[in-house]
Amino acid sequence: MAAYAQTEPQAGSNPLAIRSRARRVDGGWHLDAEKHLIGLGAWAGVLTVLAKGVDRDGSPLGPMVLLVPEDAPGLAHGPEALTMGMRAMVQNTVRCEGVFVPDARVLLAPGEGMQVAHDAMGFARLGVGALCVGAMKRCAQLMARYAARREVATGRLLDNPVSCARLHELTCAVWALEALVEAIAAALDAREPLPRHACLACKCVGSELLWEAADWLVQMLGGRGYLENNAAPQMLRDARVLRILEGPTETLYMHLGGAAAPDSGAERFLAHGLGRPRLAAELGRTVASIRERAAGARRFAGDGAQVQGLDYRIGELCAFAILLGAAERRAAGDEGGAQASAALEWARARYDRVRRAIAAEQDAAHGYPSASVLLERIGAYAQAIGDVDQQPAGVEQLPDPMLRAADLPQPPAPAASPALAPRAAGDAMRRLVRESVTRWLASDGRPSMPAFGDDTPFAELGIDSLATVPIALEIEQRAAVPVVPELLYDYPTVNALAAWLEAQGAPAQAGI
Ligand SMILES: Cc1cc2nc3c(=O)[nH]c(=O)nc-3n(C[C@H](O)[C@H](O)[C@H](O)COP(=O)(O)OP(=O)(O)OC[C@H]3O[C@@H](n4cnc5c(N)ncnc54)[C@H](O)[C@@H]3O)c2cc1C
Repeated sequence: MAAYAQTEPQAGSNPLAIRSRARRVDGGWHLDAEKHLIGLGAWAGVLTVLAKGVDRDGSPLGPMVLLVPEDAPGLAHGPEALTMGMRAMVQNTVRCEGVFVPDARVLLAPGEGMQVAHDAMGFARLGVGALCVGAMKRCAQLMARYAARREVATGRLLDNPVSCARLHELTCAVWALEALVEAIAAALDAREPLPRHACLACKCVGSELLWEAADWLVQMLGGRGYLENNAAPQMLRDARVLRILEGPTETLYMHLGGAAAPDSGAERFLAHGLGRPRLAAELGRTVASIRERAAGARRFAGDGAQVQGLDYRIGELCAFAILLGAAERRAAGDEGGAQASAALEWARARYDRVRRAIAAEQDAAHGYPSASVLLERIGAYAQAIGDVDQQPAGVEQLPDPMLRAADLPQPPAPAASPALAPRAAGDAMRRLVRESVTRWLASDGRPSMPAFGDDTPFAELGIDSLATVPIALEIEQRAAVPVVPELLYDYPTVNALAAWLEAQGAPAQAGI
């Protein structure tokens, strides 16, 4: 068995923030890593560990993935996490202290670790989608068994219109999600490259639909749905984590939305992978009109939040468009029949639901309050319910320190990066970085260029871990010094990155 170790206590959904280090030594690497929530960690024969590579002279080499066998000296496993579900699979912390990893156990080259990570997660996301299809079928099976036998005030529960509608929706969801899993699997069987955007959509939509299904299962079983002996609570608990692991829905939608541009991965998969050029064009038009309406409107307090909030919603729309496209493709094939047309109608309705929700948000008179207003509002709840640190009896593991009642930090003013180079960069180097960022923003399909200054955090511009790759590449070519994508995390503004480049001796006029 193999385990994949990426998550760290400080860096979960943001892989660029990882602190684990692999330092180059003779014949290989010394790995220092601290990971948590690693599925199968203590049971695996080999651990696949994501760390930041560091050269002998301390210069960064970018993310790398190293294979660590279970008996490697310096590898230690921490206690098993007491999880809400997925209890057939151990989750534990993993610590590597100076573990020697020979060169032959590095996957791809140093600096190409994110490629390995994205590949691993792409396949895992398709796997989650497939798992959701099976689990949704199981929910439907249990619901049907109970409803067929249970008499309620209106008669047999199965004949009740609410039950009937839910089971119908569930079978449509199963049919459509199965169509998407099959379409991606067919592309892989045909030796096509992994369609990452489609895998991402499959994971998000699958886990969200399974969560709905598991909730309906508990509801349809009534009080029996709440009893441990009836499988439903376990289904609900197991399903819940799928919206979080392999990337939480929010980060993935945000990424999908940020990348939604004409001829983006999502549109290409729709048009060519699924053979739905009309739907791809419709999605393109809808996204353009949503962005056009959003230009100039201010829904959130911060500038970056405007972009991110919109990307999130557009990502959700893209994901449901891909689900709809897969349903259209399956219906157009030899499947046919009443189930096909009903499922198609359902998939169209779900897509329209997201589109309408976005329109309603854009119509709303009120924007969203700032973080400090929210904290103040919620802080006042303590008068009614107190503000306690809660710990279940009989459980030894303490709640996470981030859940402590005391010392809740106020939203911080944007802090200077500790890694920030002390001196200010020259104009030429700042211009180089600014232009590379601007070029990426322009290629990202945004109708209007967000205003940004030399101290605007890159994260506020929607630059996520995938976006850092092309930007770093361009800067590397122009500045003529090695630039790994993670540097955009360590030096998160134009000023900071330009100062770092100058400190590396990048010629100020290089490539400008
Ligand atoms: C049962 C289980 C098994 C796991 N197995 C593994 C494993 O095998 N290997 C491994 O490496 N990890 C594993 N994990 C860890 C899992 O991948 C992380 O929990 C997940 O990536 C989220 O990271 P985090 O917990 O640090 O959440 P955080 O990063 O603290 O995020 C918390 C929440 O904030 C929101 N959020 C975060 N970023 C954004 C954003 N950019 N925009 C909007 N909202 C955002 C999301 O709602 C997210 O759920 C496992 C976790 C569990 C529970």
